[in-house]
Amino acid sequence: MDFNLPPELIDLRERVKAFVRDEVIPLEGRSGEHEIITPEQLLMLRQKARDAGLYGLQLPKEYGGLGLGTIGMCVVFEEAGRSFPAALALNCAAPDEGNMHLLSLYANAEQRERYLRPLVEGEMRSCFAMTEPAPGAGSDPTMLKTRADKVDSGWEINGHKWFISGAQGASVAITMAVTNPNVSAHEGATMFLVPTDMPGFEIVRPISVMGSHGLGGHCEVIYRNVRVPDGTVLGRVGEAFKMSQARLAPARLTHCMRWLGVAQRSLEIATSRALEREAFGKKLSEHQAIQWMIADSEIDLHTSRMMVMHAAWKHEQGDEIRRESSICKVFVAEAINRVIDRAVQICGALGVSHDTPLADFYANARAFRIYDGASEVHRMVIARGVIKEAQAARDKVLNEGN
Ligand SMILES: Cc1cc2nc3c(=O)[nH]c(=O)nc-3n(C[C@H](O)[C@H](O)[C@H](O)COP(=O)(O)OP(=O)(O)OC[C@H]3O[C@@H](n4cnc5c(N)ncnc54)[C@H](O)[C@@H]3O)c2cc1C
Repeated sequence: MDFNLPPELIDLRERVKAFVRDEVIPLEGRSGEHEIITPEQLLMLRQKARDAGLYGLQLPKEYGGLGLGTIGMCVVFEEAGRSFPAALALNCAAPDEGNMHLLSLYANAEQRERYLRPLVEGEMRSCFAMTEPAPGAGSDPTMLKTRADKVDSGWEINGHKWFISGAQGASVAITMAVTNPNVSAHEGATMFLVPTDMPGFEIVRPISVMGSHGLGGHCEVIYRNVRVPDGTVLGRVGEAFKMSQARLAPARLTHCMRWLGVAQRSLEIATSRALEREAFGKKLSEHQAIQWMIADSEIDLHTSRMMVMHAAWKHEQGDEIRRESSICKVFVAEAINRVIDRAVQICGALGVSHDTPLADFYANARAFRIYDGASEVHRMVIARGVIKEAQAARDKVLNEGN
């Protein structure tokens, strides 16, 4: 096993690190929230990122990106993740990053020109609409209720979605809908590229949530007789579930990569505070209870990073990473919550104030254990796989004995 990174990747990491430190972090917190920047600031940051050769690093080369592989993404996304506006500036923030990946896999030439190119160039935003309020799809996506019925030269979509990140201001909603209710959801659902200005596409509200609303909120959306042409089908009719796996497995990893940056920064803030602040006649950093928290956070970070790196390496070999991405999602989501929580504790009252970004990190991190699959669901998937293998091994032994 070779854990060395190529020198050009180390150079890229250092340049992203410097960009985030010098250009992005100084803009944080001016609005009272560390994650919010103005549209003008975002435009300015994107131009600076372009000038520094750091814009859209993971994007296809034909669209002006560097075409970074999954390992490269691990390295630079962690740096970009240290500050939410940085991931936006580099155009590697959710949900556009996952949507661009999906489009680069499945969009036809016309769809690429219409959506992928402007997304890459930062001229439009997108959202991904799967989750529905009860009794629709949530943890169990096969409960999908949104319907797309065939009509002359197109489809009519009716449904109700919620928690659709970035929907406000998005030009296109990649929408999962049932197109054939007579077969299992795995074979009867289709993805559509729904332009958000179609009559009947209605944003009910951005749902008020703890933590960041991001760019475009987490929205409740109604589709009322939304008529879209045949050309809006993404990929093939009936293949939405297969395609959503192609989007979600790597997207879970890229979430983990960015969150690692947040957790690493949290530990650094806490360690630096522990070196300054005194209690009971010595620095906080000299108290063993504080040292243990710092050590536990370093262990969480190192374990998380190794896991994500291994999954990225497997993905880059072209291997299927469903189990690895579930393992990373569970472990990293829980680990980064622990790291941020310890950082708040070490900083004391300062930690819950908005004088540092820790309070925003803490509020935002909680949802990571729920979105893109709750921890319990990923544990279920992992366990099912392990049990199935154990059963197969037992059956094999029994068969050989007969
Ligand atoms: C900030 C945020 C952003 C989001 N962005 C998007 C988006 O852009 N697009 C989109 O489509 N969706 C989005 N979501 C929705 C997200 O993917 C869903 O919340 C998630 O899939 C869980 O679905 P649910 O909320 O309906 O939970 P439910 O299905 O109601 O489940 C509730 C809880 O039940 C437990 N549970 C469920 N199944 C099991 C099981 N098998 N075993 C044990 N326990 C179980 C889990 O603890 C789970 O948290 C977002 C959510 C949040 C919070």
